[in-house]
Amino acid sequence: MVEGERKLTGHDNCPSCGKEMTVMQDYPLVDVAGVTILDVPEEVADRFTYTESGPLPNITDEVKGTVARDDLQKYLETLRESVGNLLDPKSILPPFQLDNYFSYAYRIPDSITELPYYLIVRDLEETELSWRDQRDGGVAVVQLWSRGPNMGSAGGPTITPVLDLAEIQYKGQFLPGEIK
Ligand SMILES: [Zn+2]
Repeated sequence: MVEGERKLTGHDNCPSCGKEMTVMQDYPLVDVAGVTILDVPEEVADRFTYTESGPLPNITDEVKGTVARDDLQKYLETLRESVGNLLDPKSILPPFQLDNYFSYAYRIPDSITELPYYLIVRDLEETELSWRDQRDGGVAVVQLWSRGPNMGSAGGPTITPVLDLAEIQYKGQFLPGEIK
């Protein structure tokens, strides 16, 4: 998709100032309609993750170990428990610090695996939604990311998506004072 042509579905404008809501975090409140925790596949191969010395072809054990962590499982449980609630969207962000370099990625601390892992929460665009998601509201996905290739002078270190962990179906809400 061409940059600048991002099209979101199920989002509206602030009734008070007209600002366009583009992601879950733009809303003061969200009504969590559903959360789907996705299965970890049997094999996690060919995701183009990189150690310091080169590509790592199969990260199945690393990924399974990371997803099984208590703090990550507790976060997924928090998401599950948010269904049916009207919440500040910040309260359903990952419970980790944002990375210093990749400022949109929550770094999973104390990794005991060869690669670093991150959580990213992003809204799905219209072209990524299936027919079942074409509804009144947005869908945010929680993704596990890891290290991608280092592009050197062409862009430096990168991170790359590994796995979708959860989908959050939500409807953005405004505070009473914002509604004319
Ligand atoms: Zn506003």
